[in-house]
Amino acid sequence: MQCMNCAAELHDPYCGQCGQAQAVPLRTRTLLKELPGRALNLERGVLHTFVQMWRHPGQVVRHYIDGKRRCYLNPLTYYLIAASAQLLALWWMSEDLAAMIRAGLSEGAINELRAAGVQDPLTWVPERYELLIQNAYTWLGLMTFVLPMTLVLRLALGNKGNFAEMGVFSLFVLSHVILVTALLAPVTTQFSFALHSAIAAGLYVLFSVWAAAGCFGASLRVFSSALLAIGIAYFSFLTTLRTGNGLIRYPDWPERLTAALAAAFS
Ligand SMILES: [Zn+2]
Repeated sequence: MQCMNCAAELHDPYCGQCGQAQAVPLRTRTLLKELPGRALNLERGVLHTFVQMWRHPGQVVRHYIDGKRRCYLNPLTYYLIAASAQLLALWWMSEDLAAMIRAGLSEGAINELRAAGVQDPLTWVPERYELLIQNAYTWLGLMTFVLPMTLVLRLALGNKGNFAEMGVFSLFVLSHVILVTALLAPVTTQFSFALHSAIAAGLYVLFSVWAAAGCFGASLRVFSSALLAIGIAYFSFLTTLRTGNGLIRYPDWPERLTAALAAAFS
């Protein structure tokens, strides 16, 4: 028999060359049976990683760094799942969010937008805001949330791990809190967005410090480095959101930015 993936000769249920399990023909029945099993697998997969991150987040990161990886999700996959959950939560509460944005638009801002050629600012601004949040939780989040946390940890705790290891730490911790807040959002935002943000901020601090202690050892230096890292990362992320939110009021912001840069460098 041959491996269906790399054509090497098969002697075992797994290919000795590429590691793929002996492939069986695709049937809807097999897919339906396999997919939930993969996602909800209690020894690995999303649910396992999620539960273990709740119980001992530091140990998950420590295991992953030390090479005990088979029972956990890849941290980047965990991030993408958390981001998707966040987008789903956003879609769920988009009407409330749009109403809040609309209420925050002043008469002056509406007139300015109309003058700039936006026909219906009350629909246009919330739509642009949602687009901003979508970007914020995907590639922008990696750049302005995960990366700053990784850099600060690398600088503050340099002897405890290299850049990639600090990146794995940041990805696991931030993804987990993003996922938890996304799951809580339908409940917490019923009360207020301020409550939702306060809970999120508390969870970011709690999980960063808790995971750092479990992963790098409990010491004052580790505690303060974790606090500093999450503080700077959260500030960077909020600043990105705030800047983006300021920019979407200006339909011609790319031109304005180019002009400002040109003026600054001339
Ligand atoms: Zn193979």
